[in-house]
Amino acid sequence: MRILVVEDESRLAGLLQHSLKEEGHVVDVVLCGKDALAQQMTCNYDVIVLDRMLPDIDGLEVCRTLRRQRVQTPILLLTARDAVEDRVAGLDAGADDYLTKPFAFSELAARLRALSRRAVEMLPAVLRADDLRLDPAQRRVWRGEREIFLPNKEFRILEYLLRHPNQVLTRDMIAEHVWDYEFLSVTNVIDVHIRALRKLIDDPYPGQLIQTVRSVGYRVRSS
Ligand code: CA
Repeated sequence: MRILVVEDESRLAGLLQHSLKEEGHVVDVVLCGKDALAQQMTCNYDVIVLDRMLPDIDGLEVCRTLRRQRVQTPILLLTARDAVEDRVAGLDAGADDYLTKPFAFSELAARLRALSRRAVEMLPAVLRADDLRLDPAQRRVWRGEREIFLPNKEFRILEYLLRHPNQVLTRDMIAEHVWDYEFLSVTNVIDVHIRALRKLIDDPYPGQLIQTVRSVGYRVRSS
């Protein structure tokens, strides 16, 4: 997933960035509300982690502004307070979930997974295409009964394709969701990883799941 973290405490922001990257996500960090609104325009994020107490614009106001702009990206609000009225205010402002500091990283990661599922029309926890299954939480893939071990990039590409079954995804879209910006110019890197992915999940089996759409991109076929 591509995640935007909005957090002014630089130590926590750095920790979140590091931990989420370890989980294989692409993470951008901004330190204030103004930057969050600007950054959000440049990229289509899968989830936004938004601190409530920011030095410029209040997190709730950032949330309201995004919703007014019809940004539908799921938002998880972080806060130091744990009062009912604060939770209600957060949800009313358009946040989808709420986590009180201090929190366990494993809980944040699980909530982000849940939010990303909710975003794509209630996708099930395990993604499928024909006899292929991918479990994002366990980070495991099977075709039929056989488990397939995928390197990180191949896993992330497959997860992204499966979250958008039968849609053509361009190399730019794949790069944006699986890589950091510095890799964006090297789109043939994506072809190399798609080839590696096909070798593992398609070539040994009847029925090709990953289709090339010439001069556009790739899609996963799912009935
Ligand atoms: Ca703060």
